[in-house]
Amino acid sequence: MSAPDPVVEVPSTSSGTEKSSGTEKSSGTEKGRPARRSLDGLRALAERGAAELRSGSDDEASPAEVVAWVAANVSPRLAAVACSMADAALPHLVAEAISGVDVLFLDTGYHFLETTFTRDEVARTLDVRIVDVKPAQTVREQDAEFGADLFARDPALCCERRKVAPLHEALGGYEVWFTGVRRDEAPTRANTPLITFDERNGLIKVNPVASWSFDDLIAYATAHDVVVNPLVANGYPSIGCAPCTKPVAAGEDPRSGRWAGLAKTECGLHL
Ligand code: SF4
Repeated sequence: MSAPDPVVEVPSTSSGTEKSSGTEKSSGTEKGRPARRSLDGLRALAERGAAELRSGSDDEASPAEVVAWVAANVSPRLAAVACSMADAALPHLVAEAISGVDVLFLDTGYHFLETTFTRDEVARTLDVRIVDVKPAQTVREQDAEFGADLFARDPALCCERRKVAPLHEALGGYEVWFTGVRRDEAPTRANTPLITFDERNGLIKVNPVASWSFDDLIAYATAHDVVVNPLVANGYPSIGCAPCTKPVAAGEDPRSGRWAGLAKTECGLHL
């Protein structure tokens, strides 16, 4: 069996004009991909998963057990990992059970060089297929329509156009998406379940490392020799787009460097 392409691009077509080239069509139309269950079928599967994985209990399943449960219940072609490329712990964890799993990278056009370097290292070193998820507009096109630096004037709109809408479209062909959300990251994430039905995107959302601390994450990456974004060691425990991410001092809230000085704390992917 031939190895999957290490990197493909999936352009969003939700609005604006698309100029990307060399792309693969959105996952939902990909040839050979199994058909999805119905929404009710996925809701029922998520409920069964929450019970079988004892989500939220003192005895809840480990990250590896969560991934193994998904591998036993969902076709590998219908699962995807969302990754910010702050580190490769989650792609590594999932690829241990789901060989060649799709890893969705929101290619906003505003990333640090270290982040795109990390993406390339993940593609090179792990048994995954990176899917670059592109916004409908390039940064230049967005600037022409909305004015330069929309992130500084209306970050909610900028995130909606460059992250939330493209991810929503990319998730359309999958039954499950994995996220690296951890309960310790922010008060808004304190009740994150291991598995739930994501009503907004219409598929099952799995958070296998919800119980991890930041130290657990680094310990996993070190133990398995997986790549970590070089910025993490330079004061960036949480990494997003370059214009909206600042370093934080030791002991500070790890997400306080995201949209620093603004009321905004989430890009909208996990609300
Ligand atoms: S994090 Fe900043 S630059 Fe990136 S999409 Fe959101 S507002 Fe735009």
